[in-house]
Formats: sequence, C-alpha cells, structure tokens
Amino acid sequence: MAQNNKNNKIPRINFTWFYIVAGAALLMMYFFGDNMSSMSKEATYSELTQYITKGYVNELIVFDNNEVEAYIIPDSAIHIFERAPQKSSERPMLLTRIGSVDKFEEFIDQQKAEGNFAGDVRYKEKPQYWSGFLINVLPLIFFIGIWLFLMRRMSGGGGAGGGVFNVGKSQAKLFEKDEKNRITFKDVAGQEGAKQEVQEIVDFLRSPKRYTDLGGKIPKGALLVGPPGTGKTLLAKAVAGEADVPFFSLSGSDFVEMFVGVGASRVRDLFRQAKEKAPCIIFIDEIDAVGRARGKNPSMGGNDERENTLNQLLTEMDGFGTNSGIIVMAATNRADILDKALLRAGRFDRQIHVDLPDLNERKEVFMVHLRPLKLDPSVDVDILARQTPGFSGADIANVCNEAALIAARKKKNAVDKQDFLDAVDRIIGGLEKKNKVMTDDEKRTIALHEAGHATLSWFLKHANPLIKVTIVPRGRALGAAWYMPEERQITTKEQMLDEMCAILGGRAAEELFVGHISTGAMNDLERVTKQAYAMIAYAGMSEKLPNLCYYNNNEYSFQRPYSERTAELIDNEVKKLINEQYERAKSLLIKHFEGHAQLAQLLIEREVIFAEDVEKIFGKRPWASRSEEIFAGNRETTTNNTANE
Ligand code: ADP
Ligand code: ZN
Repeated sequence: MAQNNKNNKIPRINFTWFYIVAGAALLMMYFFGDNMSSMSKEATYSELTQYITKGYVNELIVFDNNEVEAYIIPDSAIHIFERAPQKSSERPMLLTRIGSVDKFEEFIDQQKAEGNFAGDVRYKEKPQYWSGFLINVLPLIFFIGIWLFLMRRMSGGGGAGGGVFNVGKSQAKLFEKDEKNRITFKDVAGQEGAKQEVQEIVDFLRSPKRYTDLGGKIPKGALLVGPPGTGKTLLAKAVAGEADVPFFSLSGSDFVEMFVGVGASRVRDLFRQAKEKAPCIIFIDEIDAVGRARGKNPSMGGNDERENTLNQLLTEMDGFGTNSGIIVMAATNRADILDKALLRAGRFDRQIHVDLPDLNERKEVFMVHLRPLKLDPSVDVDILARQTPGFSGADIANVCNEAALIAARKKKNAVDKQDFLDAVDRIIGGLEKKNKVMTDDEKRTIALHEAGHATLSWFLKHANPLIKVTIVPRGRALGAAWYMPEERQITTKEQMLDEMCAILGGRAAEELFVGHISTGAMNDLERVTKQAYAMIAYAGMSEKLPNLCYYNNNEYSFQRPYSERTAELIDNEVKKLINEQYERAKSLLIKHFEGHAQLAQLLIEREVIFAEDVEKIFGKRPWASRSEEIFAGNRETTTNNTANE
C-alpha cells in the first residue's frame, strides 16, 4: 500500500565502487610510484662488493639506516638481471644493507684508487615510507569513514535506496488513494466529538468549490491533541480515506538531523511533493519534536537547527493559499509546549482533543477489533470494556491480538473469554510499568475526588455549571470535569471564591471520605494558589491590602515592587483565603454527603456521568444560568469548554 515516491525509482550511479577504485589507485601510486618501472633487486653485501670490483656500479646512495642503493651501468645490467634495461628511464639498481659506513667508505676509496668505481657516493636520509603513509593517508581514510557513516545515518539507516544524496528529501510515506484498504470513520470507534470536528475538513476536501464559491476560508491545519495510542493517526488517515485523497505521513523527528539545513530542506521537499498531489493531507506525528516553543532569549543558545525547521514549516504553511487543497494535520500529546506561532490563525488554529476512551467508547473499540477474530460465544464485550479502564485504543487492539495469539498457542478453534482475560492481564503487566492503568483503589479515590468537584459546583451559586465528569485519566490529570464557562469580561470576588471552593472540593472529598490525601489534587492546588495570589496581590481583593495592584509586567526584573513586610502579609492573606474556602468546601460536602457518595458510586460504575445524572441525585440546580438552559439537550458538545482536573 505504501509507495515510495517516484524519485526513488530512477536508477542512480553507484558511487561506492567509484570511491573504492579511486582509493586503491591512489595507494598503488603512493607505494610504487617511484620504482615501479625500474629494475631492482636485493643483493648481499658480498655480491655488492663483487659487482663494484667488477666495475658495474656507477652511483651509490648510502642511507642513514645503512642501506645502500647501488645503480648499475646499463650495459652491465645484463650480468645481474639477465636482461638489458628496456627504456632509458629504467635504471637498474641493487639494494643492500652494509655493516658499517666507515668500512664501506674505506672499501670505496680503495676501489676508486684501483679504478673500479668512478661514480658518485651520496648520503641521504631514508624516507620513512610507512610512517609517512600513516601521517598522510590515515587521517584522510578516517574522515572519509566518518563522512560515509554520517551519510548513512542521515539517509535513514541506509534503507531502500536511501543513499548519500537523499539527505534533504522528505522522509514522508505516501499513501495513495486506495479503494480497497481505505480507512474510514467506521474504523475509528468512539471519538464522536473529534470526528464531528474533522468532518468539515472532509467536506472541504471532497468539494472545495462549495466553500470557495461562498468566499469561505478553509483551515490549513488541525492539531490532534491526546495521549499516545488514542487513534490520532487513525483519525487523520480516516479523514484522507473519507475524502478519498492521498495521505502523507511522517513524524516530527524525521525533520531533526544533526546537520544544519537538512530539516528545513526536508520541509520544503515535503510541501513540494504535497502540492503535486493536492488535494491531499499531510500528517505530522509528534509535532513537538520540531514545534516546541522557541527559546525566548536568543543569547541562551538553544537548538538553532530545530528553530530553522520550525520557521520553514511556518513559512510553508503561510505560503500555500488557503484553497490549494493541502491540509496539514499534526498530532501531539502536549499542546501546551508548542510554539505559540504554530497555533496562530491560519496555521494549526484548531485543536481537536482525542482522549482516552471511556467505558462505552472502549466497548466500541473492542467491537472494531473483534470483527476479524473468530470468537467463542463466551466472549462478552461488556465485561471486556469493564476490565480495561485506562486502556487506549491501541492497548485494546493489542489485547485483541494477544488473545488471538494465546488461543492459537492453545490450538483452540475460537478465541474465548479466558484468552481475553489472560491477554488483559499480560498487557496490564506491561502497562503498569508505564503507570497508566488504575487499580480499584485508585479508581475509587479518583471517583470520590471528582464527585467532590461535581457536588460543589452544583451547590455553589457562581461556580461554572457542570457538563460532564469522567474518571478516565487525561494527560497528567486523573479525572476530568467539564464545565460551561460563562462568558464574562469581569469577574466578581464572589465568583472567584465560589470557583476556588469548587476546585478545592476534590481535595476536601479525599480528606473527608478517603481518609488520606493524595497527589491527585496537585493541579487543583496550583490553580487555587495562583488565583488566590492574583486576587490579593493584583486585584486588591483582600481586607488588609485593599485596592492595591502589585502587578509587575517586567518579567526580567527580580525585584518585588513591595516590601518584605507586605510580602509576608500577602502570604498570610493567601493562606487565610484558601483555608476559608477549604473549610467551606468541607462543610458543604458534609451537608450533601449522601448525594456525593451516590455520585461517586455512579462514577465508578460508568466512568462518565453527565449533568442529568447529577440532577437526578441532587434535584434541579437552584440557580440555572442562561448558558445552562442553552446547553440542555446538547450534551455531546464537550469541546470549547474548560476542563478541570
Ligand atoms: P496515536 O496516533 O494516537 O498514537 P494510532 O492512531 O497510531 O494512535 O493508534 C494505534 C492503533 O490503535 C490503531 O492503528 C488502531 O488499531 C488502534 N486504535 C486506536 N484508537 C482507536 C479507535 N478509536 N478505534 C479503533 N482503533 C483504535
Ligand atoms: Zn481535582
């Protein structure tokens, strides 16, 4: 299904052999360059003295290591080499080692006197062929080696046809339109909200004209935010499948290389390819690898290469017209660390949350992945979904596959219930290390905590009305509650106090009903503390420091605009404020403890409850706000609302 891009099919000259042959030739020349064409042989000392005495030698070179090169008169060469030199450039030569230079000189003088030797004697240093070779050539080989190694690495492990010259090419995999194996929304279980949001992208890709005729602008990018394995890639593929367009898939880390400019050139190449295939979808997984917020302070260093890549990505996204038919979808599980520039209008301006599935959604995911399996009637999807809190879609797919493997190992004809339970156990074993699944105890604690928030927000007049509460873990938070924030430009002190009280409800419920408090409330406490400081130091809302705003918008200044004593006063006021609200939360919970317990029990059973369920327990909320009325009967819309731990 996956096709490499066309460039890979053009045959390329294989340069590796060229390098090897050239290198070998160089070495040969280095070693034999001087005397390859000459006649030479080794001789013993006595042979040498013999030849000199006979008058064959006309030149001697004495080296400092006692080696002697004796050059033979061409006419006499026939006596030693049994042939005459062929060319004038060929100088017959004998190589000998002598005992001592003094003795040899004596001998030469004697021969000169006798007229046997009339040539020159020269003294030379022996060139160090081997160490010379080491010094000159080895570093060269070393660098060539490193260079080849890096090129290998850059071309993606030297995979299919990678090669040295593909460095700047994008590493994206292209999935062409494909009638048979098309992935559609049917393959994505649950995630109704997310599907609804991407539906618009599908519509546009199918009939762009309908939108452009009306002068509408189409989003260029959508950011899928959610933990790993929740089906972000799947959803993007389904969008391509539904719209029947090609799909480019790659990971943010594919852009990141150790060489300057490679990432940027890969981004350019990706968009060039995409333009050829438009309309199409580009999917960038793990966009945080390139999209992490750029350093605020340029002098602090930072990763310039990554920033160049990010800049190129931004440029490309700005560069194509809204209506060119390319839509970039990106996935991350941390939208908060992304560079703000990426999230600006015209880029990834919509965020689509893809969360871990709740009980019902898990059932649906199971249905999708059970489809291809041969099942025994004992398998009950309901029980399976209950057994797998905290599992992602990918984990569930894994359970189904593992169960089939277990059944096959036992040579069964169909996969039965026990195989699934074994598979769940095995996968929990793996997951527990990653700290993702909940024990029953944890589940109860989280339910009590979330029920605390829900109860308080129901009875506090100014707290945001509740939409839904879940105990499905979400990012770093344990459970989550969705509220409908009221549109307001200013916030009164009463509203802030009620909000703080509701946020503290989680920790208060833990203290009251679990008996011990946990780290699960950290996020809540952080919010409350910040809000309390804001109320007192910035909004002038405390009795002891009325109408004072110590806001300091110079973030590089380390000086507080108030005295040590005021700082202490602020701290004390903050403590007092939070304590008051905490006590208030506790007394409210005690007052409604029966309802709270029912709510928690319902959460444990169903994992997600809605405003209606809370209403059934507590009765109608005494002060329904306008937004709540609008909201009634439209509980599916969970986006655009604030989520709380
Ligand atoms: P992500 O990109 O969010 O990490 P993937 O899309 O790669 O997750 O999901 C991995 C696999 O998990 C998918 O191929 C699919 O088999 C399974 N999966 C995840 N979520 C779902 C879902 N909602 N419905 C069906 N299958 C899912
Ligand atoms: Zn909480």
